[in-house]
Formats: sequence, structure tokens, C-alpha cells
Amino acid sequence: MKIGTLASHSALNIISGAKAEGFDTELYCTPDRTRFYRAFGLGESIVEIDSFNDILERDLSDVIIIPHGSFVAYLGAEKIQNSDLRIFGNKELLRWEEDRILKSQLMTEAGLNVPQEFSSIDEIDSPVIVKSYGAAGGEGYFIAENKQEILGKLDSEKQYSFQKYIVGTKIFTTYFNSIFHNRLEVFGADIRYETDADANVRFDDKPSFVVVGNLPLVLRESTLAQYFEMGNGFVEAFKRLTNQHLVGPFCIETIIDRNQTIYSFEFSGRIVAGTNVWMPSSPYSFALFGDQMWMGRRIAREIRDLIEHQRLDEAIR
Ligand code: AMP
Ligand code: AMP
Repeated sequence: MKIGTLASHSALNIISGAKAEGFDTELYCTPDRTRFYRAFGLGESIVEIDSFNDILERDLSDVIIIPHGSFVAYLGAEKIQNSDLRIFGNKELLRWEEDRILKSQLMTEAGLNVPQEFSSIDEIDSPVIVKSYGAAGGEGYFIAENKQEILGKLDSEKQYSFQKYIVGTKIFTTYFNSIFHNRLEVFGADIRYETDADANVRFDDKPSFVVVGNLPLVLRESTLAQYFEMGNGFVEAFKRLTNQHLVGPFCIETIIDRNQTIYSFEFSGRIVAGTNVWMPSSPYSFALFGDQMWMGRRIAREIRDLIEHQRLDEAIR
């Protein structure tokens, strides 16, 4: 059994982790990217394809595919769900993630404190962030102080959601839910850095939220304990709503305001790029494993444990 992924997003994290656990790997790479990935010594893993969509046509029955942010961005949740790919994780969770209504339902069921959502412009009575449906990486978002500021700015072809704008620090906490050990591991936290919302030097009041990268963050330990409980609530809520286990990595995207209130505005049901800052170890993964353990390796370790106990089917959906 091999481990494979698309050459993008967190591929270095995933492939290096799979190798560290002794797996053969496949890195599906478009021609423009091969030079870059070869430079990391991954030449033997590279499988050249003309476009990322081509993986849907290939026979990959001997490969466990690790989905990351580029899968939904380039292939779309529906194609992935309908494919024969052997995806590590839960295809059902992708559906809950992509649909804004299901997403809110799951987060509310998990007991997370979600910023107020306004279902129509008329209801808006505070500053909001306007999010177009299907936007990736914060592209196309804007903020408005009141409803008057929104009028005239919406594209009638698009659907939007309006969420109360929270002022604070953006904290992305990642978890690994191990079905092998039947435990939730809190893996690491990072700050997502966005241009130019996070830039100090700017003079416009319409910042863009396009992600540039991530910064490592070590939380106050008391705050970490709160996040741990939030993660547990999330895993349990998914089980209640779908009767399925949440498998592997996920992330809860939050803002902590000046009163230390934690608002959760999003989640991702897969490895997030923020875990790239925690190679080769996060403080928390080191505390748990006493060894170097990054997210790509953690995924491969789980796969190995499950294979050794003939339980792999539980993690591939
Ligand atoms: P790229 O290969 O950089 O175009 O990224 C592929 C997809 O992953 C896009 O949807 C990006 O918005 C998303 N992405 C890449 N890096 C990050 C990151 N550090 N945080 C959040 N999303 C990311
Ligand atoms: P999202 O696509 O929901 O992950 O959001 C992209 C970015 O928009 C986040 O990283 C935040 O910087 C910003 N954002 C999203 N929701 C809110 C909110 N309710 N209040 C303030 N900023 C937000």
C-alpha cells in the first residue's frame, strides 16, 4: 500500500511523513511543479500528470490518498466524493465543510461559539464580513461597517453570507482524531497571516484576506485546555449527526477577542497548511510522542497502525 497526494499545499509535509514511516509514496505533479519537488529529492515519488483532475481517471487502488486544501480547490468536493479514490479521512465531512448551512449546523451542534450570522442584509446591525460562497483562501471577502456599505457591492450572480466581524487574533488549532487509539490529540496552533488584513503598513480600509502563510503559536496552556474540549465537542457532534467517526486531522478556525472569548468561524476536515509550521514536531506532539512527529508523519503512523491490525477500512471512506 502506497501513500499519495497532489503536489501542492502540504505535500512536502505529507510525503516526508509517509517516507519516515516507511511507505512508498506517489506525488502527482503537473509539469510546471516537477523541478521544485525534485529539488527536495522527491524525484522517485513524482508521477507526472497534465492536470490535477487526471488523478480521477487513474487506477489508484493501491494508493491511500491524503486530501489537502488543493483537492477541494482544484477538484471540488463533489468529484472527490463520487470518485473511487481511497481517501484517508471522511468524504462525508467534506460535504459538511463545503455547504455553509451544514457547516453551521455541525459547529453549533459541537457547542462552538460561532459569530452571529445574518440571513439577510436587512437584519445587519453590526460590522460584518461578507463572504461569497465557494471562495477559497479568503479571496473576494470584504468587510462593511453597516448595511449601507454593502449595498451596490454584491454580484447578483453570487451567494453570500454575512457574519458579525470579530476583532481579535486569528488562531487556527489543529487536531488529530486517532481511531486506532480512540483518542483526540491536540496537535498545534498557528496564526494565519493574510495580506493585507495583517499588514502593519497600509492606508486603505478595505483589506484583503488572501492568505500568505502561517506563523507558529504556542497557546496559553489554560487556553489550550479549552481548545481541547472544543475539539472533543466537534468529534462527538460529528458522530451524533452522521453516525460516523471523524478520522484523522481537522482544524477549528477561531478568533480570540480582548475578553478572551473564543469565536469559531470555520473548520477544515483534513490536514491544513498551518501544520507545515510544525515540522518536525510541535510542542504538543513532542509531549505526546517524545519524538519528532509532524502531521504528515502522524497520518502515516495511524495508517500503519491500522494496517497492522487489519483495521484500515475504518479510515478510508
Ligand atoms: P496554492 O497551491 O498555493 O494555489 O494553494 C492551493 C489551495 O490551498 C488554495 O485554495 C489556497 O488558498 C490553499 N492554501 C494554500 N496554502 C494555504 C495556507 N497556508 N492556508 C490556507 N490555505 C492555503
Ligand atoms: P474563512 O474563509 O471563513 O476561513 O475566512 C478567511 C479569513 O476571513 C479569516 O482567516 C479571517 O481573517 C477573516 N474572517 C472570517 N470570518 C471572520 C469574522 N467573523 N470576523 C473577522 N474576521 C473573519
